[in-house]
Amino acid sequence: MSSIEQDILSLTERDARVIWHPYTQMLHAIVPTAIVSASGSDLFDEDGKRYIDAISSWWVIIHGHSHPYIADRVSAQIRKLDQVIFAGFTHQPAVELAEKLLDLLPENQQKVFYTDNGSTAVEVALKMCMQYWHNQGQSRKMVLAFHNGYHGDTFGAMSVSGRSAWTAPFDAYLFEVIYIDTPTAENIADLKKQISAMSDQLACFVYEPLVQGSAGMLMYGAKELDELMKHCRKEQVLMIQDEVFTGFGRTGKHFAANHLNEAPDVMCFSKGLTGGTMPLGVTTCSEDIYNAFLSKDKLKTLFHGHSFTANPLACTAASASIDLLLMEDTQRNIERICRRHAGFIHRIGEHMRVESARQTGTILAIEWRTETGTSYFDDLRNLLYDYFLNKGILMRPLGNVIYILPPYCISDEDLDYVYEEIEGALELY
Ligand SMILES: *Cc1c(COP(=O)(O)O)cnc(C)c1O
Repeated sequence: MSSIEQDILSLTERDARVIWHPYTQMLHAIVPTAIVSASGSDLFDEDGKRYIDAISSWWVIIHGHSHPYIADRVSAQIRKLDQVIFAGFTHQPAVELAEKLLDLLPENQQKVFYTDNGSTAVEVALKMCMQYWHNQGQSRKMVLAFHNGYHGDTFGAMSVSGRSAWTAPFDAYLFEVIYIDTPTAENIADLKKQISAMSDQLACFVYEPLVQGSAGMLMYGAKELDELMKHCRKEQVLMIQDEVFTGFGRTGKHFAANHLNEAPDVMCFSKGLTGGTMPLGVTTCSEDIYNAFLSKDKLKTLFHGHSFTANPLACTAASASIDLLLMEDTQRNIERICRRHAGFIHRIGEHMRVESARQTGTILAIEWRTETGTSYFDDLRNLLYDYFLNKGILMRPLGNVIYILPPYCISDEDLDYVYEEIEGALELY
């Protein structure tokens, strides 16, 4: 494009010429909002209009946008060491982050493997578990997962996610997975029986702990998950706990793992890992998993890596983000959001348009009651999306479920405004 054209056209017009957006039907896509800057829980568009980032920019921003501490640390790092191959080489940011992270995780987590997003963190977790059995000459080939799970958009991650309209074009290419319901007091005995019946076939069980995010913030109990995990341990089914979404304070504690007594074999992290500033993925594992790859036989190596594995800038951002997470101020903010969400649920729980209002930590979800069928959900979803955007609030309803999970620094005033506008929408739609 010529520089004259660039001067005449708006950013969104130039966008429409060259860009294909994620999760977007481009035929009748709404004109994207061009964001020029962000700070704290605020986003600012080209015209200077402010939006409250009520969903932490797709669940990643935890300390607020453009946090000066993270910015300073990353800026110093890029002047010192920007990137280096991570096979045969190492660096301070990667080692420091691994040490910091392992200190916060269940004791059995002993090793850190780096990738660059949540999907690849899951791919590595699956490969670790599958090859764990392979390396020991055991034929455990099946994967167990929850209905409605979401673990990412690459092929392995798609395979273990619940099958849906999103995965339909690829179903023929996805590997077979055994699905079970999330546990409840009523079905737990039956789930355990199902697992026992096939345990010698199962390589691993992969699950989102406590909250199934993409499925519509579906929540289930820690007590039941604990019981299921204990049973998997007994049946020697390896557990992959996907904390890509639930990690770093989202559930009110550092990790969903902190709500549980049992520890998984493998854990996945991304999203809030760098405070949402840069792409990075982490897969951690137990000593037992790691040891299954130690061998004089070269074929027992974990042959996996990405060009940007353990990028020093991303590791630095993550290290800085963990420093912030551990500060008393941040912990107080997390508690404050948990408390205020609970108060809001109390206030609107009985509203006639509320089918269900639920909360896990800083995650609040409200299911709209609708008499009509599912196609109406799409219309309602778009209505609500526009409604909130017009009010200066970024929300992204999942069907008839709206949810908020703000950056922890959001002010009481902004949170009140979001709550009030939700009440306003409940009166209208
Ligand atoms: C978002 C998400 C992923 C995928 O992470 P990406 O970085 O988007 O690839 C995996 N698992 C869970 C639980 C997620 O919420």
